[in-house]
Amino acid sequence: MRAEVIAIGDELTTGQRLDTNSQWLSQRLTEMGVSVAYHTTIGDELDDNINAFRAAIERADVVVITGGLGPTADDLTREALAAAVNVELVRDEPSLRRIEQLFQSRGRTMPSRNVVQADFPKGAVPITNPHGTAPGIELHVPREGRTACLLFALPGVPAEMYEMWEATVTPQIAKLQPEPRVIRHRRIKCFGVGESQLEAMLPDLIRRDREPRVGITVSDAVITLRITAAEKDEATCFAAMAPTEATIREALGNLVYGQEDDELEDVVVRALQAKGLTIAVAEWATEGLVGEWLKRASGNSGVFLASSVVDSLQQIPSLPADSEPNGSATATALAEGVRQTTSADIGLGIAAFPAIRDTADAHVCAAIALPERTRKLRFRCASHPSIMRTRTARQALNAVRLALLSGFDTT
Ligand code: AMP
Ligand code: MG
Repeated sequence: MRAEVIAIGDELTTGQRLDTNSQWLSQRLTEMGVSVAYHTTIGDELDDNINAFRAAIERADVVVITGGLGPTADDLTREALAAAVNVELVRDEPSLRRIEQLFQSRGRTMPSRNVVQADFPKGAVPITNPHGTAPGIELHVPREGRTACLLFALPGVPAEMYEMWEATVTPQIAKLQPEPRVIRHRRIKCFGVGESQLEAMLPDLIRRDREPRVGITVSDAVITLRITAAEKDEATCFAAMAPTEATIREALGNLVYGQEDDELEDVVVRALQAKGLTIAVAEWATEGLVGEWLKRASGNSGVFLASSVVDSLQQIPSLPADSEPNGSATATALAEGVRQTTSADIGLGIAAFPAIRDTADAHVCAAIALPERTRKLRFRCASHPSIMRTRTARQALNAVRLALLSGFDTT
């Protein structure tokens, strides 16, 4: 069973408003085991709506429409639906009375324009809107040689749409399913290589016809592998995904840093906590970003002691005044300095030469100061300027993660 979600409104097609309803509806459909094959967004134009509805009825078994049910001249869903399925609009008296009552209960007279909200394509079932004037529409559209298309139109106002979805749409869709089905995802989070390089390390897992399905997305240098399974219940989904997850973890090793909503700092904080260690950070290249992240992730665990942000070499007293700007020496001075002043077990220093936003040729140096020695790392900054700072901060944190995993025995 495949679904299409249609969002309607000029405010969406002109980019004035973000279409959050389609996201919400798709999450609900997916949870119920219905795969959403299409998202369509249409402006407030009658012909465009009619054409989009016809196409959806052809290609999807369930169509959920949101928006265009208001009382004004630009609310065209009712009219477009009737035209798309070649039926007339008929007035539903009980719906009209309900709308009148709603106005009465709010102490207002109903404007004549609201009457059209009680019009439905012939054969449709009204969906009650407990807190608004726009009833929804349920319509079964017969298709030759196939099952009927089950179509719902709901108001665009998000709160009204959520409420009506739960009360009426969910049970109708559930009825269509021969046996209950749910879709669940697992997200495996990776850091350290590019996405194509990572895909090449996986044994043909990204094939579209594979079950469970595996997809790759990348955001600010973090790669997420999403495993998806559709089964009769949640436990069966997770059991079906387990072998795929094991294959991924085996193929990628330490490139996998966590799962679901884990960020690198969450993982670093957990590892520090497990070892009973503390960390402090001094940042030049990353302008305090690593400190902010660690502070949020550590909460009041006491793992993160302090962070300082340096914006000139003169602020690093241990660096000889006449020294040439050099990433490694600066990062080392920062790491050792912050470790000493805070008495942390680990000091992390991050420096870049030239400043990372100036050029694509810049390199970043991180230093991890430990009781016995300081581990030095150097990365090239080869990424879009808009994510350079985030990427650099993640590289430094990842270095700490790997150092914690290796028990600090490599330099
Ligand atoms: P409508 O049902 O088209 O009159 O929409 C009523 C209001 O709901 C709009 O003015 C928007 O503020 C909001 N809205 C409509 N469609 C969406 C959508 N797809 N996502 C988020 N908000 C929406
Ligand atoms: Mg609208």
